[in-house]
Amino acid sequence: MSEQFPEFVCPYARRLAARSRPFALQAYDSKRKLSSGEAADKGFSTDPFGELSSAAKCRGIRQRFPDRVLVMTSNRCFMNCRHCTRRGILSRSEVVESEEDLRRAVDYVKARPRVRDVLLSGGDILTLSDDQVMRFVDAFAALGQIDIVRVCTRAPCVNPLRITPALAQALGRSKKVWVNTQFNCVDEVTDEAKRAAALLVEAGVPVSCQTVLLKGVNDSAAAMLRLFRALSAARIRPYYVFMCDPVAGIDHFRVSLAKARAIEEKCARSIGGLSLPRFVCDLPGAKRKLPLSEVEP
Ligand code: SF4
Repeated sequence: MSEQFPEFVCPYARRLAARSRPFALQAYDSKRKLSSGEAADKGFSTDPFGELSSAAKCRGIRQRFPDRVLVMTSNRCFMNCRHCTRRGILSRSEVVESEEDLRRAVDYVKARPRVRDVLLSGGDILTLSDDQVMRFVDAFAALGQIDIVRVCTRAPCVNPLRITPALAQALGRSKKVWVNTQFNCVDEVTDEAKRAAALLVEAGVPVSCQTVLLKGVNDSAAAMLRLFRALSAARIRPYYVFMCDPVAGIDHFRVSLAKARAIEEKCARSIGGLSLPRFVCDLPGAKRKLPLSEVEP
């Protein structure tokens, strides 16, 4: 597994990991990690959502829901997060690269008028140059049917200096861009991260956060509440908390459903709705993200 998904940590994230144990757990392999064989024995897959095994109708495009389309823009990240759902498939995923690929991806969306939300994902789209990022943003934002172009990036957390004033202004110009990011513990909400969020918000780009519930990182109500308060103060909207997916190589991060429900309940009693994300489980084959109350133990 490590061979497919080697440790890779950019300099900013290395410095953060040196002073934060919960962040270091996301950056570096743990001795608690199961071997590939043990993971397979437990029924964990490297590709639980069948992203590689199911033939894509169009290179670099994935569609699970009628109104949303995911576009693979890059298979690189600023940090290879140890808990990544796509850890086993990222390096082999097809991405939209050439002008021809992009034209076909846009045609794919145009042929499906119900699509109104495009997720520019990967990997991390912000590993591309500003010009390449804007090539994707502009191509989809120009379609009348599209209301939302989501730039899915962990840069505000793991490499916040990537968010420059020029990039923030360019993203804000289309008036359709939302940045979706991921912060998992309060230590990650640094002065640099707050500055990155401020640049985006002040350029007219809403920023929301999808947190992953991870054992040893944020598996207590106190840790989650500290994170949600810090995000809200930085004008980053806590949006979802995901249960860790059943992916080979990340079993040591998984938190039981009972514990997750207890954390959710305590958070709901302790913080206002604007700072309270939805706790959900994204199960292979499910037609929507399930609230924890609907997940079978
Ligand atoms: S930034 Fe996202 S896609 Fe990249 S390794 Fe981390 S979780 Fe996976």
